[in-house]
Amino acid sequence: MRVLLIEDDPMVGKGLVVALTDAGLSVDWCRDGSAGAEALAVGGHAIVLLDLGLPGKDGLTVLQEARQLGNHTPLLVITARDEIEDRIKGLDLGADDYLVKPFDPGELLARIRAVSRRQSGQTTSVIEAGAIALNLATHEVSYRGKSDFLPAREFALLRALAERAGTILSRTQLEERLYGWGEEVESNAVDVLIHYVRRRFDKDIIRNVRGAGWMVARS
Ligand code: CA
Repeated sequence: MRVLLIEDDPMVGKGLVVALTDAGLSVDWCRDGSAGAEALAVGGHAIVLLDLGLPGKDGLTVLQEARQLGNHTPLLVITARDEIEDRIKGLDLGADDYLVKPFDPGELLARIRAVSRRQSGQTTSVIEAGAIALNLATHEVSYRGKSDFLPAREFALLRALAERAGTILSRTQLEERLYGWGEEVESNAVDVLIHYVRRRFDKDIIRNVRGAGWMVARS
């Protein structure tokens, strides 16, 4: 799952990138409002974390313009404590939720899960695809009577496939979901992750579609 982070404060930004990456999310980080607006327009992100006080273009303008253009990417506003008015405006302009700095990374991750659930109409933190069940809160995966807690990237890989069960995802599509901008990706990174996931459960958990990519069964 790719997250777009629009935040100019280097300390806050770095902290968030580490917390989100550790949780298995890939992060694209824009340090000013104009770059953020462009990245938002390009799309491909499951959620946007938007600071309000930004150089280039302020956060509320970024949000307002995106919603006016029909962009409905789930969006969490992150604000300083003294920006209550702006927070209210943000929600009125179509933000899905907000967090007040400083916040605990655990709370941020829980809010991200909640916003993604609302977006996809799910009511719990468990994704099911055929015989696979993935718990988004704990990263526990169960498959045909076996269960295991997966490290961040393995979980992210299986989640990407499970969210589009029955659909083939190519190497490029998987890499896009797993890695952020500018991250070095080894040419066999996806194969290695698939190998690890299969070793934990069974080879059948991820199907190889020769020349096209990989998929998990829908039923
Ligand atoms: Ca700021």
